[in-house]
Amino acid sequence: MPQTGEERCVICQEAITNPICPDCLHREIEQWLLDKNKSLVPKLRSYTWIFGMFRHEGTGCVICGSDMQVCAHCYCSDIHELLRDELGQEDADDFLFSFNFELDREAG
Ligand SMILES: [Zn+2]
Ligand SMILES: [Zn+2]
Repeated sequence: MPQTGEERCVICQEAITNPICPDCLHREIEQWLLDKNKSLVPKLRSYTWIFGMFRHEGTGCVICGSDMQVCAHCYCSDIHELLRDELGQEDADDFLFSFNFELDREAG
């Protein structure tokens, strides 16, 4: 059962230590994507919209103050999965480098 009083990501159940909401991350990633592959921007937008549905009372984003319940790690790793094949290996690696929200951390 989830503990009350501690905000956890609804996907990975980790405490949200770096609260940046999907909307704010989306803006950063969209800018990056405009450089790399504009045609993927609509796909990114529709995916971020899905993440918006997770939003309810939880942790406030450090940038815009919106409530959020999905950590930056889960959002970025899902976007990476979503775009990886179409970006190609080189740009997918650049994504990880540019949006490295502990995506390469060891489990545990
Ligand atoms: Zn998470
Ligand atoms: Zn935000």
